[in-house]
Amino acid sequence: MNLKLYNSLSSKKENFRPLSNKRVKTYGCGPTVYNDPHIGNFRTFVFYDLLNRVLKMNGYNTVTAVNITDIDDKIIDRVNQENSSLKEITSKYELSFKEISHSLKILPNNHNPRATEYVDEMIEFIQTLIEKNFAYEIDGNVFFDIESYPKYGKFVNIDDELQVEDNELSKKNVNDFTLWKAKKDSDGNIFWNSQWGKGRPGWHTECAVMIKTLFKGQLDIHCGGIDLKFPHHENESAQIEAIQGHNLSNYWLHAEHLNMDDEKMSKSLGNFVDVNSLIKKHGSSVVRLFLLSAHYRTKVSFSYKKLDECKKMIEKIERFAQNFDLHDIENIELKFSSQHHSFINSLNDDLNTAEAIGVFFSFLSEINKKIANNSLNDSDKEKTLIFLKLFNSIFDIIDFDNLESKETPVEVQDLVNSRQEARKNLDWKMSDILRDKIESLGWHVEDTADGQKLIQKK
Ligand code: AMP
Ligand code: ZN
Repeated sequence: MNLKLYNSLSSKKENFRPLSNKRVKTYGCGPTVYNDPHIGNFRTFVFYDLLNRVLKMNGYNTVTAVNITDIDDKIIDRVNQENSSLKEITSKYELSFKEISHSLKILPNNHNPRATEYVDEMIEFIQTLIEKNFAYEIDGNVFFDIESYPKYGKFVNIDDELQVEDNELSKKNVNDFTLWKAKKDSDGNIFWNSQWGKGRPGWHTECAVMIKTLFKGQLDIHCGGIDLKFPHHENESAQIEAIQGHNLSNYWLHAEHLNMDDEKMSKSLGNFVDVNSLIKKHGSSVVRLFLLSAHYRTKVSFSYKKLDECKKMIEKIERFAQNFDLHDIENIELKFSSQHHSFINSLNDDLNTAEAIGVFFSFLSEINKKIANNSLNDSDKEKTLIFLKLFNSIFDIIDFDNLESKETPVEVQDLVNSRQEARKNLDWKMSDILRDKIESLGWHVEDTADGQKLIQKK
């Protein structure tokens, strides 16, 4: 199945067609670096990583960018509160973002542009918008004039009640948005000089100009959390598309929120769970699996119970994997059979991770039955190694190098086979004697619905 993605532009799943055959350009709106990111932010960032990995699985080379928003009102408030400097605050939290990304196995991006490093380009861009009559200046502020751009409203009906920004400033239209913000007293020494006076760029202009500079204003896929669809993405694309003859991105993907008690988890509401402490307590693989376990377009509520379930799932996969010789798994050739294809098809169906996990676990239980019946053949073993490798190329929650392979010794397997025979003959006494023998060799045997299950004692 070809890759299908739900495009917010059409509100439909569409077949993915890249701009150029084997190179896909993606941009995701990144963190505002004024405090430690929460687990909700990382639902979105891990979703960017999922998209990147699924594109790679489909044979595409990707060029990815996730920006660092290092100039913003909230950052300036923090600088003032802590009597610190802009660079001190933003470097600290950018580092924290990168460390957590690394620990959650997010593949490094090709670009992590910082807004403050593109201010000259932003000033030039705003000047072009003014010259082309898409923007106007009042008292050192520059606004985008939405009346001048008839296509405004790709994500909303502009006749509906819209979310209004900067309404205290005198603007022609309440929905005109700020491209350049004049310096306020509270901004202290955080400002740039421009032809409109001292000030700084607006958030929507920051992303627009970074995309314009890095990708010549044209992406395959633009993504972000659902809260960014309007006004941020609407405004990002309006500015760029007003002055270029093509669209900014063919596909727009938006991830649903992680909620806390039915409310969006957010720094400003203060109802957030710190991702660092979660990783410390539960381990990064558990947190990553939790973030990937639901489809990205479903709302998820944070819960410790779900984290526990993910921990159990990982333990189950590890126990399973230890039945196989993993030492050469990295070099195994990926020859896919129908079960692998079901897994790939689920992911290609708009990144349906929940379904893909289901396919993987059905495979596990099928193979577990064969292990219990001692009917596993070489082809099953090969299929399993391929599946483990394929699964981990997306979910990345199993550390094969540190998983000791615990193939069952022949002696133990023989005892298990005899015990199966004894149980078939309802000879419970013999079954218990054989269990004791197996135990004395360092293995624990459990009787499950799928048959006997061996676990090596620690
Ligand atoms: P921010 O640091 O607030 O600029 O947000 C960075 C990214 O995290 C954006 O793409 C947001 O849409 C996303 N985000 C913020 N809160 C949540 C949440 N509760 N669940 C999922 N994504 C979120
Ligand atoms: Zn953005």
